Amino acid sequence: MQNSTLRFIDPHIHMTSRTTDDYEAMYKAGIVAIIEPAFWLGQPRTEKGSFKDYFNSLVGWERFRSKQFGIKHYCTIGLNSKEANNEALAEQVMDLLPRFVMKEGVVAIGEIGYDDQTKAEDKYFRLQIELAKEAKLPIMIHTPHRDKKRGTTRSMDVLEEMKAEPYMSVIDHNNEETVKEVLDRGFWAAFTIYPHTKMGNERMVEVLKQYGPERIIVDSAADWGISDPLAVPKTAALMLERGIPVEHVQMVCYQNALTAYGQSGQMKESDWLDSKGIDTTELFEGNSVLRGQRLDSPDENKVIK
Ligand SMILES: [Zn+2]
Repeated sequence: MQNSTLRFIDPHIHMTSRTTDDYEAMYKAGIVAIIEPAFWLGQPRTEKGSFKDYFNSLVGWERFRSKQFGIKHYCTIGLNSKEANNEALAEQVMDLLPRFVMKEGVVAIGEIGYDDQTKAEDKYFRLQIELAKEAKLPIMIHTPHRDKKRGTTRSMDVLEEMKAEPYMSVIDHNNEETVKEVLDRGFWAAFTIYPHTKMGNERMVEVLKQYGPERIIVDSAADWGISDPLAVPKTAALMLERGIPVEHVQMVCYQNALTAYGQSGQMKESDWLDSKGIDTTELFEGNSVLRGQRLDSPDENKVIK
């Protein structure tokens, strides 16, 4: 049984870097679906093949792993802004993208946008907006941690200039300084809840009180660094404690992500509502994540050892 009566979606989490304990805890906390954006892995890749294998794991192995813990996994595909600066490699990665963006469960092009706001980043950002428009997919925008306000404004300027629909673009890593402009211009405004610094969940509650729940999305962006894969359910609990109506909490921690990324045609509520539970006999290319353990039914919260 999931402990929470509310259902949650974490629409930005890098499970490749997380453990099976995280999956179990996320399931128990009420997370039913997640989106794993293609991103930087902490050190730059040096070969096209590394990107190819990574994209394959996002649409294959990681999706299987997630399913074994009762959570529906989707992903986004894209060349991140940091690695766009290796232009020789970036060219080769661009050749890979068209075949991956059409795969099942790919709900957006992302995370793309700016890091240091270089010329190369701008070039590959624009090329990938073009690709998203051709593939009719939403776009997930990573906004820079340095010079955030300017980088966020610039991202939206480029999207508008290239006639990308604001309603098809989610601008992520917002804060109090950027949210108003993002909402005013018609984009989705996502917030990453960081455990210690930047956007904490107390601040998120204040943002919600001020701006309401329309087009606001909460995520964890948990990855290989200090981060919290339970940031979405924890923030929801705090919102309820602070008197935010439950319908608003469901919008920002579930429904808005579904509406935004559901525009891909690849993500619908019935994917998890009609799920038949976990088939623990299922293998991925001959491999299981269960190592002899039988996660018989997470609905009973037990793992038979
Ligand atoms: Zn990320």
